[in-house]
Amino acid sequence: MRIVDFRTTVVSIPFTEPETWAFGYVHGISNVIIELETDTGLVGLGECPHFPTSRVVLEVLNAMRPFVLDRDPFDHAVLLHELNQLHGWHHFRRTGNMATAGIDMALWDLVGQETRQPLYKLFGGAFRKQIPYYFYIADKDAYDMAEDAKRGVSEGFETFYLKLRNDLTHNLQVVGAVRDAIGPHKKLRVDANESWSESGTASEMMRKLGEFDIEFFEQPLFYYDHEGAARLRRTTGFSVAANQSAWTEAETLAVIKAEAADLVLTDQHQLGSLGAFHRVAWTLAALGIPVMKHVFGDLGITTYASMHVLAAAPNCTKASQTHYSVLADDVIEGGVPMFHKGCLTLPETPGIGVKLDRKRVERWSNYTKEHGEFSAFDVNKDKKTVSV
Ligand SMILES: [Mg+2]
Repeated sequence: MRIVDFRTTVVSIPFTEPETWAFGYVHGISNVIIELETDTGLVGLGECPHFPTSRVVLEVLNAMRPFVLDRDPFDHAVLLHELNQLHGWHHFRRTGNMATAGIDMALWDLVGQETRQPLYKLFGGAFRKQIPYYFYIADKDAYDMAEDAKRGVSEGFETFYLKLRNDLTHNLQVVGAVRDAIGPHKKLRVDANESWSESGTASEMMRKLGEFDIEFFEQPLFYYDHEGAARLRRTTGFSVAANQSAWTEAETLAVIKAEAADLVLTDQHQLGSLGAFHRVAWTLAALGIPVMKHVFGDLGITTYASMHVLAAAPNCTKASQTHYSVLADDVIEGGVPMFHKGCLTLPETPGIGVKLDRKRVERWSNYTKEHGEFSAFDVNKDKKTVSV
């Protein structure tokens, strides 16, 4: 089996409300859909997030395309190693991994289809068939965030997530309001996205917010500040999760060596492949450290591909990330997936287990042509989102 065609399509899907984070605003996602076709007529699906932009990701994919064509999908690990080591992408790992992960997903999808197995079987079987996710509450005023939280409770979610600012007064208001809304038994986690570093406020933030029973504080400090994260863990007694710090396999090991995290959030795009995600999960399982899926802004291909890894490691029991609570649509058949008690069900069909909905792909591909791409780092808060 050989790859004979490598197609890319940028689809832009708006959020139902803007996302605010430490690096600006996000009004939607513009992800690259990959279709790898074989000489036997199979088509494997992959997806790359718009990080830093979909144009950059497309350029990287174009540079990698000649090395992917005419290859056997079963050689996926060797091919990815060659892209990094022989063709220089290990010098640009964070950007290169966005692209290799998309190619890798499509190769795995082909391997699953050819062997007629869902991917989790190829990773050694499922520890669980229901994959838990959090409910994402976008940043706004405390009353509206509490209303969102109530919606999540009514939909059966057990874990809630919000991004915080470098503003103690605001943070105490919104965390207090959301904790009141969800009651004492649901899990509540917060993400500073590195924004408490330079101000030196992390320790005070954690102590005061910790009164609201926070599951963990995600990435309070700059991604490279392992000593600082280790110090916060020791001095506050609260759990710290590494996300931006766990971008590659080597960086994840450095975090653990520095005792800088209680938990790790990462994904196939940070790490470069589903195989790397699986390796990291099992390595951390040996150390008793939980792993969750981080999300750049995923559509169904990335979501379902990662579920096979989340099923196939013993330490992926905690709620993973998803943007579906604010995402207007998807490009897979069925559109936005249905959650049941905060979980998605592991697919049993061969490969990743999703199919493209051609009408949806066309609609959201045209949206890119008409409106341009969404940015993960927009400076404009008031860009219009569309109703669908
Ligand atoms: Mg994060």
